[in-house]
Parts: sequence; C-alpha cells; structure tokens
Amino acid sequence: MSNTGLASYAADEATSVGRRFPEPKPAYRSEYQRDRDRIIHSTAFRRLMYKTQVFVNHEGDLYRTRLTHSIEVAQIGRTAAVALGLNEALTEAICLAHDLGHTPFGHAGQDALNHCMRNFGGFEHNLQSLRVVDTLEEKYADFAGLNLMFETREGILKHCSVKNARQLGDVGKRFLERSLPGLEAQIADLADAIAYNNHDVDDGLRAGLISLRQLRRQALFGKHYDTVRKRYPALEDRRLIYEIIRRMIGTVVTDLIEQTKRNIETVAPKTIDDVRNAGRALAGMSEEIHAEHLALKKFLNRHLYKHEKKLEMTAQVQAILKALFSSYMERPALLPEEFQEAAEAANEAGRARVVADYIAGMTDRYAIAEHERITAGCSPRPGNL
Ligand code: MG
Repeated sequence: MSNTGLASYAADEATSVGRRFPEPKPAYRSEYQRDRDRIIHSTAFRRLMYKTQVFVNHEGDLYRTRLTHSIEVAQIGRTAAVALGLNEALTEAICLAHDLGHTPFGHAGQDALNHCMRNFGGFEHNLQSLRVVDTLEEKYADFAGLNLMFETREGILKHCSVKNARQLGDVGKRFLERSLPGLEAQIADLADAIAYNNHDVDDGLRAGLISLRQLRRQALFGKHYDTVRKRYPALEDRRLIYEIIRRMIGTVVTDLIEQTKRNIETVAPKTIDDVRNAGRALAGMSEEIHAEHLALKKFLNRHLYKHEKKLEMTAQVQAILKALFSSYMERPALLPEEFQEAAEAANEAGRARVVADYIAGMTDRYAIAEHERITAGCSPRPGNL
C-alpha cells in the first residue's frame, strides 16, 4: 500500500531501520502514515496553536501561528513530494513535526532560552523537536515519546551541533559523517523556508510593518506585482496581495520540483542511501529563483523581523522567559509536580534541562500568565499546562 507510485530513491518502510521499540505493523496505514497520525494526536502539536510564528498570539487573530505555519509547510511539502515520487506521508509527518520543540514567542523565545541554557548545553529548537517526539510526549503505555520511524526522526533533526550529534546515536550520525537525510527531509526543510517567506510577506503587510512600495523592489514580488496590476488594474489591495503571494508560491514550488528533478537525473540515485551519500543536497531551486528567494528572506529579516516594533516585543518576551527560567531554577517548588520531582532529583545542569523542557512546552499566553503569577508572588499553581 505504502509503496505504490514511489520512486526507488523514496523512503520505503520495508528497508527502513524502523522504530526504536519494535511494534506490530499497522493494519490499514503505512508506517509513515502512522507517524503523521501520532504527531497530529500529540499534545505538543495542539500547543502550536498558541505559539508565535512572527507575531505574538495576542497581537491579532489573523496572523500565522506555529500551527497554521506547520500546516502550510505540510501543504507545500506534500505537493513537491507527490510530484517527485517521494513518500507523501513521511514528508507530511516531518513538516507537521518540524516545530514541535519551538519555544513560546518564536525566535525571540528560542534565543532567550538558549541564553539561559548557555552553561548547561544550550537550547536548540530543532533538537528539542526531536526530544519531544523521542521522550517528552507521554502518551503510550509501552514507551516514552511517539516511537517514530527513523526517517521521520532524521527529517525532524535538521541541524545539530557536533557535540549533541555524538549523543544522539543513529540519528546524529549524519552530522558527524557529513551525509544528508533522505529527499523527503530535504523537501520538508525547503517547504519550511518557502512557507514562511511567503506568509510573512502577507502577515507583515497586514501588520503595516512592511509596505507594497518596499516589496515591489523585491524581484520575486515585483515581477508578479507588475503582471497582476497590469491584468487587473482595479483589484483592491488585499486581493492583489493574495494573488501575488499565490503566484510567488507557485513560482518557487514549481522551480523546486523542476530543479530537483534535474538534480535527480544527474546524480541518478537508486536508493535512499544513494540520496544520503550523494555528497550534495538533491532537493533545491534553480540558481536564479534561489537568489530571489534568498533576497526576499534577507529583506524580511531586515525590515520585518528586525522592525523596531518587533524588537520592542522581542525585549519584552525575552525578559519574561528569562525571569521564568531563573524563578524555576531558584524555586523548583513553582514547577508542576512531575517537573518538580525531576528537577529536585537532578544536579544543576539536569535541573536546567527540566526547566528548559517545561518552558519550551509553554504557549505564549501560558508563559505570560505564569510570569504574572510568579511575579505576583503567588503560591505554586496546582495542575500543569
Ligand atoms: Mg518552521
């Protein structure tokens, strides 16, 4: 069932290393469909609904959250996977899981937590996503975590320091050997970048932090702006923007599929291991579109992510996370019971990791409420997130 229409270089459950804890095969699903379904049923997945992508949750209802971002990533990933004969369910699983370890408050939150953890091994949101699916989700009677397939875990771990890779066993090996993950993982990674580049244009315009005038000078946006304006001169701005964005996504995704096809033809991998050992990523855009995509990314970085209004919010939310971290480190009694026990039983570094796991799991609004509770000097809260 799972292998129909798959290219020989696609991930195949029959040749996979499989799961860390062997389980009977699912009756009506492929192994990767089961992974995707476990991710959808996870607590961490539901929390993405109230976690910041770029705009903090309370800034407006229409902005992307980490949940809608992940769904948009999966949409792009699946389209490309099917077009390339790859495993669609695996690609979808990786896309939906890629941000499960993200802290509240987006990158500002991650940087703050990494700073707090600087003497205790640091904090990498990517590694945390793997930690969520490997150990932190407590749902199944027989094992900790979601017990996902090797290829799903391989795809979730996009980056990793050499030091951390050494402790990760099979899934860390490629960072030491400098080999690559399968094509499903490579596609999921690019789908992430394509999704945020485009939806952040939409959200940034909606917030009024970037303007059409600025964007018209961006090659990717500008050429579609001209075409759409010419063809529909009376189109109102919201529809104009959406029409341009859908065309931008179309351009980049089509280019990704076509260039990846060309790369596959050149390298001619026969198996997923050939993909892993090709010495270069096979999924990628053409030079021209990649340059335009990167220019837009750079523009968003300078004018949206580092906009002074964003930086104000960044400073506020970083202060919240840093205050939470030091409060829990000093007074583990403020933690919910199960975290408290683990924190008290551990040495300082171990306690810091427990605190980081707890904070990383928080939604934006929970972190804000928790900060208010602690700074108001209340007693420990019963229950947990
Ligand atoms: Mg992402």
